[in-house]
Amino acid sequence: MKKLLLRIPVALRIAYGLTCSMSCIFLAASLMGLFPDMQAEQIRNRDRFCMLTAESYVSLINELDSQQMQAHLEGIARSNSDILSIGIRKNDGHLMFQVHDHAKNWSIDQDGKLAESNFSIPLDAGGKRWATIEVAFVPQSDFVRYCNLLGPGIIPSLAISFPCFIVFYFYLSSIFTPFKPSNSIPHRVREALDCLSEGLIIIDLKQRIMLANQAFKELTSKDDDEILGLVIEEFQFSANSEQADESFPWIHTQDTGESVSGRLLSYQSSDEKEYTFSVSANVIKDDNGIVQGVIVSFENVTELENKKQQFSSMVNELEDTNKELEYLATRDSLTGCLNRRSYFEKFEKLLKEAQQENLAISVMMVDIDFFKSINDNYGHSMGDIVLEKVGATLQEAALISGLACRYGGEEFALLMPDASIDEAVQVAEKIRQAIEDLTFPDFSITTSIGVSQRTPETKSPEDLLDQADKCLYVAKRNGRNQVVRFDEVPDETVIDESKICRTKEEEESRK
Ligand code: GH3
Ligand code: MG
Ligand code: MG
Repeated sequence: MKKLLLRIPVALRIAYGLTCSMSCIFLAASLMGLFPDMQAEQIRNRDRFCMLTAESYVSLINELDSQQMQAHLEGIARSNSDILSIGIRKNDGHLMFQVHDHAKNWSIDQDGKLAESNFSIPLDAGGKRWATIEVAFVPQSDFVRYCNLLGPGIIPSLAISFPCFIVFYFYLSSIFTPFKPSNSIPHRVREALDCLSEGLIIIDLKQRIMLANQAFKELTSKDDDEILGLVIEEFQFSANSEQADESFPWIHTQDTGESVSGRLLSYQSSDEKEYTFSVSANVIKDDNGIVQGVIVSFENVTELENKKQQFSSMVNELEDTNKELEYLATRDSLTGCLNRRSYFEKFEKLLKEAQQENLAISVMMVDIDFFKSINDNYGHSMGDIVLEKVGATLQEAALISGLACRYGGEEFALLMPDASIDEAVQVAEKIRQAIEDLTFPDFSITTSIGVSQRTPETKSPEDLLDQADKCLYVAKRNGRNQVVRFDEVPDETVIDESKICRTKEEEESRK
């Protein structure tokens, strides 16, 4: 409500106040009886007129005939525009003479009382009443009657108020024009401010706009009359989400005296368009160093911000694509395990760390037993399904403790940083069991696993993998589907592939 009032021009507000005060003075004077009662005066005049009419009539009764009497009556009616009708009524109630359809205009209420605008005077001749003269005057309008009920000062007060209000308004407007805040700024200064491409306003300590340059008016699509005196909060400015907790720059500057520059604010225009402004604020001090207001500038950076947002969403897209490419470059497409190249990169790094920190690191090689026969008996695509499931089992294990890699063909490797050989063997046993438990339509599979651990002699990932490979060879030679740990394999063991059975049947016959 207060904001709404502030939008009404000052001249209009003062004119309204003066008019109301004047009306109150009129009413008070009326209540004190300082106004003549025009209504009572009118009744007195009408009464006097009727008395004179009756007297003139009585004096003419014996001299005029009835036609002349009627003409005389019409003359009286013509002489007073206030008269609605006149009639001479005999004692028996019969209308002898009448002017302007008196029978219709004359009215007496149920109690026998006359209407306020009707007058009746008895006509006496020779000491005897022979008739009554009745005069019906124009009645007062309902509005005037109600106003008169409130007091004689009401009508003059109402009649004067409106013209006075108009006069006050124009008079005050002409007086205030030189005092408009914008007019108090020298013309040349205003012209210079209007040349700026940045919107610029000066606000007082109540955050009311005292001056706005042309650019600000264009940005907000408002003219001087709409802007000046308006509280800046009325504009739809809002901080972006990262700065939502901070106060607006002009408030911060007014409260702390500190300058603010380049704060980004969103602005919603009346046609629902969204703009971004870079806002700066500085205090204005008087000669005594007391803060009198704040000067605020608004630079339209909407296009720049839009471009920035487009750019950052492009960067995000690029990052996503890079992640995808990196994933594709480092993973085996069939199983999703690390490929050999990225596995070795990470392996080297982790092994170096373990060597520097003297930490345990273990590795296992997992080889599917008789995988070739699955391809041969159930087809290559079934072989791929087996590889996918084994890869998934290893990745699950790697989630807890390491890196899973498809080492090649049907061989996988699992690197376990920080794991001793005992812990690695436990994990290997779980993996072996989990793979044995995998279900396929017409067959099941088993794996042989070799586990090795870093020793002071280990120089490279290959050293560890060779050890694990040796264990794998032992596991294959000893009948497959088992875990073999490196510290239980004799040093003199030599890998001789010919000693390994190539098929299940061969293995069965050797037993
Ligand atoms: P062993 O128990 O001694 O390990 O016997 P094996 O049959 O598992 O080993 P071998 O090395 O004789 O056979 C490996 C087979 O794996 C040969 C090859 O055709 C098959 N293989 C390699 N890569 C893929 C693949 O991506 N998909 C399918 N389906 N088969 C593959
Ligand atoms: Mg195999
Ligand atoms: Mg193999």
